[in-house]
Amino acid sequence: MSSVKAFAALDNSSPLVPHTIERRDPKPHDVQIDILFCGVCHSDLHFVKNDWGMSTYPLVPGHEIVGKVTAVGPHVKKFKVGDLAGIGCLVDSCRDCDNCKEGLEQYCSNGWVGTYGGQEKDGSGATYGGYSKTILAHEDFVLKISEKLDLAASAPLLCAGITTYSPLRHWKVGKGTRVGVLGLGGLGHMGVKLAVAMGAEVTMLSHTPSKEADAKRLGAHQFVLTSDEEQIKKVTGYFDFILDTVSAAHDYNFYLGLLRTNGVMVCVGVPPAPAQIPAMNLIFGRKSIGGSLIGGLPETQEMLDFCAEHNIVSDIEIIAMKDINTAYERLEKSDVKYRFVIDMSTL
Ligand code: NAP
Ligand code: ZN
Ligand code: ZN
Repeated sequence: MSSVKAFAALDNSSPLVPHTIERRDPKPHDVQIDILFCGVCHSDLHFVKNDWGMSTYPLVPGHEIVGKVTAVGPHVKKFKVGDLAGIGCLVDSCRDCDNCKEGLEQYCSNGWVGTYGGQEKDGSGATYGGYSKTILAHEDFVLKISEKLDLAASAPLLCAGITTYSPLRHWKVGKGTRVGVLGLGGLGHMGVKLAVAMGAEVTMLSHTPSKEADAKRLGAHQFVLTSDEEQIKKVTGYFDFILDTVSAAHDYNFYLGLLRTNGVMVCVGVPPAPAQIPAMNLIFGRKSIGGSLIGGLPETQEMLDFCAEHNIVSDIEIIAMKDINTAYERLEKSDVKYRFVIDMSTL
């Protein structure tokens, strides 16, 4: 085991504090990474607060990790020392179930291992995320990061990027698709950029009036303020596809009303409380509501390559590690443009 400097939540109600973690010893297939930047996802905050009832402490969040490879095991083929590398939300899975064999490790039937808050499959202990100096993982769970893109702004691709890319691809969003992206935060702003790059007609659906100019700058063709009845009337029965990225409780039925016949609303945002949806709201108009969890390893690499090709990165605000608690307070108020990224040299 080796001791690594980190920032951790020690319970569900105190601010994050400096903390030392023990990481397992490297194995022959492992890539060791010196973490340079780590994005701050709203899921980090849900986990810290134990919103989903599955957190264990000490908890070191962070699953948008980029850095430099400092060592590779003797069996590693994909990476060499000095390469840029990334780690997203998963560091292991069974690799044997139907889902894993199809590259859908995020739906592993035997349980995947989260980058933080999980347990290593070999029994060596808890996993800890990217608010730390170093990390290691099997090379199959490490992604190649393009040298062409800004490194700090690439970090959010590893969760916000893949979580929005995967449903857009699965539901075949492309030229002519009328897409509504609900919520302009970390996921939402990536959803806009990616859907625009795929050729869709994109509308930003937001509850914050001051985000209109930014939505257009990010590429949205229209902006709709969800509290404005007149604006909502114009998009009622309009969308083929709505990508719902909202982290807080909201009325799904209201947004189902914006779908046209055969329209699909996909939830990626995870409000803490369950929602009620009368079957009638789906039956009239043959509408569907679905969900999507991050993305598998092959698709994550495909998304990173797509972003390198289309010059897509996240719009970020770089923060020092000590400012993480203030960043969380701002996330809670939807005050983020559009992803906080921690400069890990400040730890
Ligand atoms: P974020 O940056 O905080 O963005 C969330 C956005 O939701 C806000 O910027 C805001 O946009 C909107 N919003 C917030 N509170 C609202 C309210 N009360 N009513 C209406 N809209 C509200 O969060 P994020 O990092 O993008 O994450 C979003 C959600 O996705 C979180 O629940 C996170 O846990 C989840 N997530 C899921 C996956 C997955 O695999 N499915 C992966 C990563 C994250 P406007 O100001 O524009 O309205
Ligand atoms: Zn995330
Ligand atoms: Zn599996």
